[in-house]
Amino acid sequence: MSRIQPTLGVLGGGQLARMLALAGAPLGVRFLVVDSVEDACASQVAPLLRADWRDFATLEDFARRVDVATFDFENVPAETARWLVERTRVFPAPRALAVAQDRLAEKTLFGEIGLATPAFVAVDSRADLERAVAEVGLPAILKTRRLGYDGKGQFRLRTPADVGPAWDALGAQAHGLILEAFVPFEREVSVVAVRGRDGDFRAWPLTQNWHTDGILSVSLAPAPGAASLREAAVGHARALAERLGYVGVFALELFVHQGRLLGNEMAPRVHNSGHWTIEGAHTSQFENHVRAVLGLPLGDTGARGVSLMFNWIGDLPDAAAVLGGVDAHWHDYGKLPRPGRKVGHATLCAPDAATLRERVERVARALGREAQAAPALAALA
Ligand code: AMP
Repeated sequence: MSRIQPTLGVLGGGQLARMLALAGAPLGVRFLVVDSVEDACASQVAPLLRADWRDFATLEDFARRVDVATFDFENVPAETARWLVERTRVFPAPRALAVAQDRLAEKTLFGEIGLATPAFVAVDSRADLERAVAEVGLPAILKTRRLGYDGKGQFRLRTPADVGPAWDALGAQAHGLILEAFVPFEREVSVVAVRGRDGDFRAWPLTQNWHTDGILSVSLAPAPGAASLREAAVGHARALAERLGYVGVFALELFVHQGRLLGNEMAPRVHNSGHWTIEGAHTSQFENHVRAVLGLPLGDTGARGVSLMFNWIGDLPDAAAVLGGVDAHWHDYGKLPRPGRKVGHATLCAPDAATLRERVERVARALGREAQAAPALAALA
């Protein structure tokens, strides 16, 4: 007797697609990944179709071969996503992607659901920028509305003399800019949440995040001492998901400023600040995303204890210090080293904060990563 296994198509073949495929395999799900580069790291664990986002002949083949399509990359052109919707089931819907692709639309939506944001003004000309600086004040951050990630496409303005250089750096952007007030936040947290095709909504515990040069460096979950923020943060995530009719996993990145939550951005996909859930939660973000988009019941998003994730940027440290530890987990994405590139991560788990501290201190010392671990260790103290 034959049995049909579902095939989940993923647009984008990076580490997120790779971890989705690894999580989906035990559920009997097959994968097909599309990426424009031959050595996309997901191709080591799932078949790859090589195509760019406008290669509709190859995408036609992709659409025929998958039961459901999803994304590892939010900047798939909305036009491609809409084209795909005519041919196969696509989750999340292109509308969610379109909102998350545009910082102005995203922040406007945050306001509509009652989530405060840093002050912001749309900027389309040098004169707009002058006016925006007068309105928002300094310091401020000029960002491209589209295609920015990991701190790319951003310029910090500290004094009025920075207006010219900021405009020279980003003014040529075809899709417009946004000026945001710089928020001297106490901390950054994210809500990683999932909504099923039937509307079931679940969120993992809040995660606290530290960035270096705009790139995530360390995540700690559950965020220490954040119990009082969780209800509001998860409420905003739920409102966002319901407003967008969202299906799948997403992340809502928040600043905590003077004890209040401010919305920074939404990622319409599994997220780097949820990698700890692979070992640190009853169900990982990757498994729940696969379940959600295929219409399966969602799994428990509770934490098993406390977890800390180190992101490895540029190149990988020696794995031995992590591999030899208790409840310590190594992830090598199979990528070539390159400055600024996310090449892997490690997650250390423990039953309580004191034990996690010891484990993190030991690994950080062995790898010479004390500076990377320091802010999270202070938060754990
Ligand atoms: P983004 O790509 O907008 O998430 O920015 C990357 C990182 O830069 C954030 O995670 C923050 O650490 C920092 N950042 C972005 N926007 C602001 C802001 N308005 N005020 C202070 N820090 C910011």
